[in-house]
Amino acid sequence: MSTQRYPVYDVIVVGSGMGGLTTASLLARDGFRVLVLEASHLPGGCSSSYPRKGFVFESGATTLIGFDEHQPLARLEKMLGITLPKEPIDPPMTVRMNGEEVTRYSDREKWIAEAVRAFGNESGQRRFWELAFQVSDTVWRISEKNVYFPPQGLQEWVDLAFRNRLADMPMLRFAFRSVQSVMKSCGVDTPAFRSFIDEQLMITAQSKSGDTPFLFGAPGLTYTSCTNYYVPGGLLKMVQALEEYIRSRGSDVRCKSKVVSIQSRDEYLEDKHDVDADSDETPGIADGNMPAEAAYVVSTTSSRFFTRKVVTNLPVWNLPALSGGERKEWFEKQAARFRHAWGAFVMGMAVKDTFPDDLTLHHQIHLDRPMPHTGAESLFVSISARGDTVRAPEGFRVLNISCHTETDTWFGKPEEYDRAKSETGEAILDILEARLPGFRKENVQVQFEGTPVTWQNWVNRHRGRVGGIPQSMKRSLLDWPPARTPFKGWYLTGDTVYPGQGIPGVTLGGINAYWRVVREQSQAGISRE
Ligand SMILES: Cc1cc2nc3c(=O)[nH]c(=O)nc-3n(C[C@H](O)[C@H](O)[C@H](O)COP(=O)(O)OP(=O)(O)OC[C@H]3O[C@@H](n4cnc5c(N)ncnc54)[C@H](O)[C@@H]3O)c2cc1C
Repeated sequence: MSTQRYPVYDVIVVGSGMGGLTTASLLARDGFRVLVLEASHLPGGCSSSYPRKGFVFESGATTLIGFDEHQPLARLEKMLGITLPKEPIDPPMTVRMNGEEVTRYSDREKWIAEAVRAFGNESGQRRFWELAFQVSDTVWRISEKNVYFPPQGLQEWVDLAFRNRLADMPMLRFAFRSVQSVMKSCGVDTPAFRSFIDEQLMITAQSKSGDTPFLFGAPGLTYTSCTNYYVPGGLLKMVQALEEYIRSRGSDVRCKSKVVSIQSRDEYLEDKHDVDADSDETPGIADGNMPAEAAYVVSTTSSRFFTRKVVTNLPVWNLPALSGGERKEWFEKQAARFRHAWGAFVMGMAVKDTFPDDLTLHHQIHLDRPMPHTGAESLFVSISARGDTVRAPEGFRVLNISCHTETDTWFGKPEEYDRAKSETGEAILDILEARLPGFRKENVQVQFEGTPVTWQNWVNRHRGRVGGIPQSMKRSLLDWPPARTPFKGWYLTGDTVYPGQGIPGVTLGGINAYWRVVREQSQAGISRE
């Protein structure tokens, strides 16, 4: 039997989405020896970019906020001492309703004036939006302070009481009131405004006004009043800045490393292992060679790694397949609590640039009838900035288009799949020609579609579920999966963990997971050296 010793990482992060990279970079900053394992050939998951046919497409996310005061990306930059690549854009979005074009100005007063112009009822609109700003500002401020949320254990409940101001308590009532109920009390619940709000909530809260608590709806609805950014060259540039940072601190990010199991020490030692003496990373790890300080063994399709702690940046639905015993059971229970999540139908396009000079980069287009095969009632369209020649050569622009879809529609019917996919793509082309200024079908140079099946294959999202867990009035704030599992040294991050959803949400979740790792480390009095 070999007596060779194998390296033990302080922390292995599984998945390099923004949640995982946030935790990994902060731990690397503190001197933890971190290894990020990413299945795909590029890091970033749903907030990344990829090249195709001479153009660079965004993988999922296209809009970016989170750099204002009390917001998580600003905090991440400050903690790491780096500036992520980005440029502010204004106005951030145009909503193309049926018969009405609404510009989402970032200036608050300008936006309220625009809402009044489009939907009338000056006093009601003002009341609604001023309340939304107040709640949103409070939510960002409170979320920054409460890094151990949802509280786990008595001490964290006590901390919660001490960390927060009594004056903020009344805001909690909005956890129990839907956006729609607030609209009603402000007298603005008209069909046109409801449709506007519902579709805006679908892209932030993943739910409509009747099912979204105002506490979460308010930050989603006022998203465009934060500073919005564009990342020249694509979101991959932002992700790569974090990757470089991690490497600069002596830690590592390895792509093309799909994790297939995470075993506790006991599970691993119970197993019989084949000795494969040829691999240099995981040379024949015989049972007796498991280093004493390792708590988990993380196996990819070709290698095995030892670690003291593990942070999984995967949706909760993915976790049962990676774990065994009581861990599997616990993750199965978590996954079963959140059975519904949306999928996305996406389209990438490269087109000749015949767009008007003043066209905003992001558009939500309301549809006059639900889209075939998806049922979506709006499309979201993002256009690469003119002059971003990393993404498209001079004279061309790249379009990323997405809409919500039920995921099950796309699995299990191979004979209908191709037809449904191309019919949906054709419908989108028609909508763009009719509704997006400057768009002509004959200018399309490259075009392809992606469905939940694509998402499952591409970033391993179970059943192609993306965007996190939809908000619901039936769930309390405390019901979100927390960053700490009951299993010592195993933490969670990503958009199915509190606070979920979107780049700012998963960055906040990643910061919270970091604090939990650090706290447990210091409580155990373990030195990293
Ligand atoms: C179409 C679309 C549009 C969106 N638009 C926006 C937007 O405009 N703005 C915004 O803020 N948010 C947007 N979002 C949401 C946002 O992109 C996601 O919520 C967020 O990026 C998810 O990050 P995450 O950390 O949860 O992990 P993910 O991005 O899901 O990353 C997880 C990573 O883990 C890897 N992985 C999975 N399984 C394994 C395994 N077994 N071993 C190793 N690696 C593995 C995956 O390959 C992936 O890279 C959008 C999402 C979609 C789908």
